[in-house]
Amino acid sequence: GHTQAASTSQRHDPLDAWNCLTHRNSSSGTSNSNAVASSSKQPLADWPVTIKDNFCTSDVPTTCASKMLADYRPTFDAAVVARLKAAGACIVGKTNLDEFAMGSSNVHSYFGPVKNPAKQNSNDEARAAGGSSGGAAASVRAGLCRVAIGSDTGGSIRLPASHCGVWGFKPSYGLISRWGLVSYADSLDTVGIAASSWQDARRTFQLLSGHDRRDPTSMHPRTRQKAARESQKQVDRIQQSARSRPDALHGLRVGIPHECFPAELHSQVLPPFERLVDFLTSKGATVIPCSLPNISLALSAYYVIATAEASSNLARYDGVRYGFQAGAKDDGREPAKTAAEVYARTRSQGFGREVQKRLLLGAHALSADAFDNTFLRSQEIRKVVQRDFDAVFRAPNVLRRSQADEREEGVDVLVHPCSVSSAPRLDATKASSSPMSEYVQDLLTVPSSLAGLPSVSMPTGVAEDDGWPVGTMLTAQWGMENVLDIVASVV
Ligand code: GLN
Repeated sequence: GHTQAASTSQRHDPLDAWNCLTHRNSSSGTSNSNAVASSSKQPLADWPVTIKDNFCTSDVPTTCASKMLADYRPTFDAAVVARLKAAGACIVGKTNLDEFAMGSSNVHSYFGPVKNPAKQNSNDEARAAGGSSGGAAASVRAGLCRVAIGSDTGGSIRLPASHCGVWGFKPSYGLISRWGLVSYADSLDTVGIAASSWQDARRTFQLLSGHDRRDPTSMHPRTRQKAARESQKQVDRIQQSARSRPDALHGLRVGIPHECFPAELHSQVLPPFERLVDFLTSKGATVIPCSLPNISLALSAYYVIATAEASSNLARYDGVRYGFQAGAKDDGREPAKTAAEVYARTRSQGFGREVQKRLLLGAHALSADAFDNTFLRSQEIRKVVQRDFDAVFRAPNVLRRSQADEREEGVDVLVHPCSVSSAPRLDATKASSSPMSEYVQDLLTVPSSLAGLPSVSMPTGVAEDDGWPVGTMLTAQWGMENVLDIVASVV
């Protein structure tokens, strides 16, 4: 049998005091692991990169921080891993996460919680790194890599980036291939990028974005071209307006949705946000208050949709096809007599509590009694949230069949705080505290996930009271990464 102690000592790494790695890639050593002499022509030659441990890798295990997959070794590299290796990047290790990417604090991990490295010499109580890509953001902050690949279903790259004081970029849904990323909720899952500079995140995005026929949700080249034309038009207009002026953001319209300042928001995260808005104004941007009237419903709709999809996706872990299987004689009980008993024991022992809770919630939402009032209702909310975004942006949504015209009174980007507070203390994230306080962390990140929009958490200083990092979220219309870039490049 596999024990947690054995697996912990096997991956113990004195360099990783923050527990952000699940495995170090010893084979990569100093030269890059695809055994091709790295050449300076390769776009990411010798960049140290970490990969969240829910992406398949052929040279190190892929555990999803779950006992269920603690010994799972895929035979192939995920699409993004293959692209990174081909570009010369050096994969230094796999990063810790909430089990199967379900969580907001990276405390639901078979390998234990990630400690936030943002204030390394402080006497503060240990803080959470945020989740679920806590190991990814922490590995950037701690200097173990230049870029970290994570996943973002409802904020998983942006929230930890905000808590660790690094950049966390979730591109538009469908631009980067998810082939080889272990599914959580397919209609929301995206590949995310954490980095200590926007330039590094952008270069990585440019390398990874592209059509992949192995991922059925990968955006078709025609749609990409349409988005590229539209974003070029928007960028040209803004640059035209800023031309020959010292203020680089002249002509840029920045929306601040008032619903993104809910009662749950701690006032200490506001001063850094306000300084950022002042900076954008000083660069010539026009700041416009706006409204996304339905996003107060987004969090509940997200949790119904994400858990429903998860309950279907994770049905494959039955102890037969993958990974862990509960022993024939476990707990001193009678050996399992039926297949159903094997499945039940395997799933009760292989999955942690948070995952089990979500699988039950998701199965309930899909059950005949609850389907109309929970699952279908949540899909309707998702649609109105998408429409809310389409109604505030200047650029049309190129994914809509009837393509609307540009709306001159619309905004180019939205900004608001990324998280309701700075990183929570690890001891406050214990199972005994309210589970809702963890879900509330996602309040400001899930709306753009439901709408599939490009969204980046920018490091913007520290909270007034405790000195821990906070991020500002910047969101644009679908496919308008180049519009985001205008702002992110000057911040
Ligand atoms: N915290 C959210 C959840 O638990 C988002 C997680 C994610 O983006 N993977 O579902």
